[in-house]
Amino acid sequence: ESTVDVERAVPSQARRDDRRHILHSWSSHAKLEPTVVVGAQGVHFVDEEGRRWLDFSSQLVNVNVGHQHPRLVEAIRAQADKLCTIAPYHANEATSEAARLIAEVAPDGLDRVFFTNGGAEAVENAIRMARLHTGRHKILTAYRSYHGATAGAIAASGDPRRWPSEPGAPGIARFWGPYPYRSSFHAANEREECERALAHLADTIMVEGPKTIAAILIESVVGANGVLVPPDGYLRGVRELCDAHGIVMIADEVMVGFGRCGEWFAVDHWNVVPDLITFAKGVNSGYVPLGGVIMNEAISATFAERAYPGGLTYAGHPLACAAAVACIGIYRDEDLVTHARRLGKEVIAPALLAMLERHPSVGDVRGLGAFWAIELVRDTTTREPMVPFNAAGADNAPMIEFANACKQYGLWPFVASNRLHLAPPLVIDEATLRDGLAIIDEALSVADRHCSS
Ligand code: PLP
Repeated sequence: ESTVDVERAVPSQARRDDRRHILHSWSSHAKLEPTVVVGAQGVHFVDEEGRRWLDFSSQLVNVNVGHQHPRLVEAIRAQADKLCTIAPYHANEATSEAARLIAEVAPDGLDRVFFTNGGAEAVENAIRMARLHTGRHKILTAYRSYHGATAGAIAASGDPRRWPSEPGAPGIARFWGPYPYRSSFHAANEREECERALAHLADTIMVEGPKTIAAILIESVVGANGVLVPPDGYLRGVRELCDAHGIVMIADEVMVGFGRCGEWFAVDHWNVVPDLITFAKGVNSGYVPLGGVIMNEAISATFAERAYPGGLTYAGHPLACAAAVACIGIYRDEDLVTHARRLGKEVIAPALLAMLERHPSVGDVRGLGAFWAIELVRDTTTREPMVPFNAAGADNAPMIEFANACKQYGLWPFVASNRLHLAPPLVIDEATLRDGLAIIDEALSVADRHCSS
């Protein structure tokens, strides 16, 4: 992919309207210069200057089946012809079928779906369900986590994005999850990290009061905060602690569910069955907003006679659910979950390990399936991060420079803090994936210049 840095001649109408009238998420409108996207196909999208970007972000890690998948577009069109919208207290074919298919691919015993419009709202409802089910109020959540931007979900998140919304919601207590490369527990290896992280969680439960805790809310694989794959045994240990104390285990799979990690749900890697799973993004690859909570029989039974007090006007929207039906069909028929697992093992892992060997700026590589991170450091011995925690402005310059190097070769990167996250659409073919990895390898030379050794 070659890209030409075309001078912007006249701002397009889209750009002018955007600059004049839109406040984008998580942005200051005077500083943002958004790329105006005019089209997309498969693993590429095209901007108004004619540049074709290889999408290694899947946007916000959601466009799993790639852009403009014809079967998905057609399903939305057909549903629009048939029934665009209907109140959530009615049943309809698209929403019913979507729920059945989601239950089919979810871990055994999770058979009932509560639909939402996205991930944060799924988290809000999972918390409410856990509280009503247990009659307890407290929610334990990890420091390195992101659960969404609505009031309750941001309060339940662990990363700095919650700071401007504080004091947030009462009833949230936090713990440290495992992170072998930067262990909070001074662990020497993954096994020790697992044991110590579980002991710390057990202590946290004790000091918070086991009978006050409704749920442990946890990302099965931590996404936005670093693609942190838990050591073997960790999620099983969390499950056991929940069982021992009557605590609801909520696995937030908004980012990692639906094949991203090479299994239908990331928990499937360890055969752990949570009580509630939150999902969104990959359920229909983001073509129409959709999310939800999948629940087990015990929580489903809580709301068999007693009405569940929650739900928005567009819950289970037919267009979004028709997109989910088509998307799950695509995952199955194109065998994308297996494809993602194979690409991770056979292509991405070896390529990243070679980068770890070759580049002084690469401190750690980790991931599963089609979801990986490269952690950039100044020094592989001290592990000093390439930029300080939560860096902004000039402090963050080396990461901006690195992202720009990726962009120069036509790759759209997902950069967070001192990391590059790799999350291409699951439909990516091996040759294109290798092209993208070669671009990253090249761009890392730019980062290498900031290393102290
Ligand atoms: N939970 C996790 C793990 C996420 O990664 C995200 C978004 O990135 C959310 C929840 C929030 O989802 P949404 O932005 O659809 O509200």
